[in-house]
Amino acid sequence: MFIYVYISVPVRKSQGILSSVVASESESLERARGLLARAQRVVVLTGAGISTDSGIPDFRGPNGVWTKNPEAEKMATLQYYVADPDVRKKAWRNRAEHAAWTASPNPGHAALVDLERQGKLHTLVTQNVDGLHQLAGSDPAKVVEIHGTMRDVECLACGERAPMERVLARVKDGEEDPPCRTCGGILKSATISFGQNLVAEDLVRAQLAAETCDLLLAVGSSLGVYPAAGMVPIAKESGAALIIVNAEPTPFDPIADAVLRGSISEVLPALVRAS
Ligand code: NAD
Repeated sequence: MFIYVYISVPVRKSQGILSSVVASESESLERARGLLARAQRVVVLTGAGISTDSGIPDFRGPNGVWTKNPEAEKMATLQYYVADPDVRKKAWRNRAEHAAWTASPNPGHAALVDLERQGKLHTLVTQNVDGLHQLAGSDPAKVVEIHGTMRDVECLACGERAPMERVLARVKDGEEDPPCRTCGGILKSATISFGQNLVAEDLVRAQLAAETCDLLLAVGSSLGVYPAAGMVPIAKESGAALIIVNAEPTPFDPIADAVLRGSISEVLPALVRAS
């Protein structure tokens, strides 16, 4: 059983490799380009940071939803969602107004489509639930949505699944906490909440991809949510190179072969174009 958890790992900002990487961004970009040019089996792990330039806030960045309002974390925690109708009502209001419904993919998403066209991308594991990789043109067969999708709803009692837009229409018509029409159970977006099991097949695919890649590219993730973040040490221990693209330090920067700190929608196209 694999439960979705957030683990806070102290970030060692003063480690030698990290400070040297931060000191010379262009040197890091060159190093990363070289690694990508040599790689043949690339696995990408994306997080909320790749979608912020599409107008969807992340959770833990400086403008993150939880950074600004730590109480909001309750809505993403199964225990609170099931126990408290007020948490569910708030979650439904948030879903109805979510930025993802009007967001478009940005050049960061497009760069990963380019990487796929170059024949290098083996698997794209995303922690995101917004569906923007597929909207950008990534092959759905290569995408593993390890934390599910907000574009569907699922009944927590009978497991029935349906498109989110149908239930959002009921919310807009005045149902504050719409129940399942088949069994009366609690409905939730088909995302993996904290405390909820991941889909075993998705997890196995992600871990196998990490074990067998020759380069892991981690993009826009604080790398603090497990088991997704566990792909990083798995790939390293299996001999893969590691590139991290993220504005803020992550716990895995010290073991990365290159760390790129710029904005993802600028850095990722520059990295992929040159490979
Ligand atoms: P996170 O919020 O923990 O971390 C995001 C990281 O991205 C931060 O370290 C931040 O500094 C960095 N970042 C943000 N914008 C950036 C940019 N433009 N350029 C460079 N770096 C940037 O996100 P996480 O690690 O993915 O974990 C949060 C969980 O919540 C995941 O499951 C995530 O998918 C989910 N979530 C998803 C969405 C979405 O689907 N778009 C949005 C919010 C949260």
